[in-house]
Amino acid sequence: MILVLLGPPGAGKGTQGDRLAASLKVPRIATGDVLRAAVLKGTPLGMEAKAAMDRGDLVPDEVILGIMQEALSAPEAERGAILDGVVRTVPQAEGLARVTATLGRQVDAVLLFEVSEEELLRRLGGRTVCSVCQTPFKGREVGELCEKCGGRLIRRKDDEPEAIRHRLAVFQAQTAPVVAWYRASSTPILAIDAAGTPDEVEARMLAALAQVRS
Ligand code: AMP
Repeated sequence: MILVLLGPPGAGKGTQGDRLAASLKVPRIATGDVLRAAVLKGTPLGMEAKAAMDRGDLVPDEVILGIMQEALSAPEAERGAILDGVVRTVPQAEGLARVTATLGRQVDAVLLFEVSEEELLRRLGGRTVCSVCQTPFKGREVGELCEKCGGRLIRRKDDEPEAIRHRLAVFQAQTAPVVAWYRASSTPILAIDAAGTPDEVEARMLAALAQVRS
């Protein structure tokens, strides 16, 4: 099963994507994580993406489709994949449809995480992440240590207030039309109320998915 998680930054796609990947036993593919790892390693991909990421702008569609092609062709993704933060523009949706078609597959459903802007600003402003394993934390300060790997916690450059507002505007302008594109292509779209605790959101997500799978 290939599922696309859509929603603004801070809507909880990463947290819910991890849970879903574990329960469906398929990989979660997050382009943001792949790009941040490339930036840390200083690879050509990372160097190309860094400036756009720091501003909160999108990196070019071809870069994202290259990552997708590679990740979906890997043996781990044979049973499916959870695509987190991947389809952010209409050309990416079109490109992903071509990639899945060449693999004899398709996007089975889009999960649309909905949450108010006020709540998003609150969540992202209070977020730190581990500089090594990228685990996000709430209510923890920059400089503290990650209990998973001992790495130091940092604030993502794109979680600064200006960049947050810019990312939300980018989402509205470029990603909202993606929903219309999937609607027009008859892919099931499951709207999930993403306010509340991770457990509450997970329960809503699983209930919505059960309808599609039955
Ligand atoms: P995320 O961790 O998903 O919030 O992504 C962080 C940043 O990586 C975004 O603000 C973009 O600069 C870049 N990025 C991640 N995924 C994509 C994508 N599908 N298309 C374009 N840029 C992306």
